[in-house]
Amino acid sequence: MKKLSYLYLSLLAVLSVTSVQAQSRERTLLKGMTLIDGNGGQPINNADILIEGGIISQIGKNINSSGALVINLEGKTVMPALISSHVHVGVIKGNEGSGRFYTRENILSQLKKYQSYGLAHVLAMGTDRPLLFETGLRDSSVNGLLPGARLHSAGYGFNVPDASVSPDSFMGNLYRPAAAAEVPGMMNRLAQLRPEIVKIWVDGSPENKMKPSVYEAILKEAHAHNLRVLAHVYYLSDARKLVDAGIDAFGHSIRDSVVDDRLVARMKVKNIPYIPTLTLDMFAHAYAGKPDWMNDEFFKASLEPGVYEMLSSEKYRSDQKKLAANARSAAAYQIALKNVRKLHEAGIMIALGTDSGAFPIRAQGFAEHLEMELLVQAGLTPLEAITAATRNAARVLRIEKSFGTLEKGKSADLIILGDDPSVDIRNTRKIEGVYKNGKEVSRGITSR
Ligand SMILES: [Zn+2]
Repeated sequence: MKKLSYLYLSLLAVLSVTSVQAQSRERTLLKGMTLIDGNGGQPINNADILIEGGIISQIGKNINSSGALVINLEGKTVMPALISSHVHVGVIKGNEGSGRFYTRENILSQLKKYQSYGLAHVLAMGTDRPLLFETGLRDSSVNGLLPGARLHSAGYGFNVPDASVSPDSFMGNLYRPAAAAEVPGMMNRLAQLRPEIVKIWVDGSPENKMKPSVYEAILKEAHAHNLRVLAHVYYLSDARKLVDAGIDAFGHSIRDSVVDDRLVARMKVKNIPYIPTLTLDMFAHAYAGKPDWMNDEFFKASLEPGVYEMLSSEKYRSDQKKLAANARSAAAYQIALKNVRKLHEAGIMIALGTDSGAFPIRAQGFAEHLEMELLVQAGLTPLEAITAATRNAARVLRIEKSFGTLEKGKSADLIILGDDPSVDIRNTRKIEGVYKNGKEVSRGITSR
């Protein structure tokens, strides 16, 4: 028995060495596609991509196919895999949201879901828990060693003290400094986790806002650790103060007023990216009606069990109609659209993020595709919306050297589409294949 298991182990060792060698020599030629590279230029017809060892080694027309496995993609469109720079993972399950759902299994299952919707990277914005760092889950995922979209993390965000938030709440693991003096110690601990960015909520509620002295301390301490700070915002007045205080990015739309020219100019000078999360505002009011996308399997497949039944029930719909918050969200959405347009036209970088996964009604994977459609509604061209979802989001995550566009030397992370999204942005939903590091990892979910 001992001998047998030894033989078996040796055989396994030989097999795995062989497969590593095969992988390093492997050449795959994707041939004859319409290519959207993520940089915003017009699609290139009849293009080829040569992949070697997971990296794009050549891209262009009529690439020599000798020694390569050739995959004919005539009639298909290829674009970079998507990147969402504002999501939450591991805090929803079924119809509920809670920190109790923050398990390795739940996180990995959500990362796989994102991947099947064509996402290569997601940035979880401030609701993570120790498990992610203590078990090496974040590092393994970022390095592409685990299945699913690669998970980046803002660690534990900063919010205001709030006695009503239980530790079990999905916001239950945040830092909540009452005074600026508490910030340095908290930031020291956060910095040890090497978060991608620091998330702050300045406007928990109009009566309970973060004091300027606290967010100024957060900015100072984060910058001393070479960390950027991204703000959850809603009000124009907060956005103005945060820009003056040195904020590095906005994680939501300004939704109470149209942005003024001075703020736009200041954001431009300081290169502050803007992540509008329009789907958040859409999801916050759309279910009072019957949006056409609700009937699409592409939407239904992105929901946790039981959520579709809740959303499509007459009771839920009529309750939504009665809510004052619903009307407020519909109005906020219209202002959000205007602000994206104004900031985009002024040359501010717009990056895709959705806040998907914070609540069960914010559909993970589907939200990212709807966001691109809403960016087009706001006034971006389809190609500009794709750039927001690929190159620009890669820049927010500071991974643009290897990801976000399809160019020589970058990772072959891409999606194959049945139709061209530069003609109709909804064609990003016609996914026929998802590649990570040059390997097909999912056939994707396809809209009918
Ligand atoms: Zn969020």
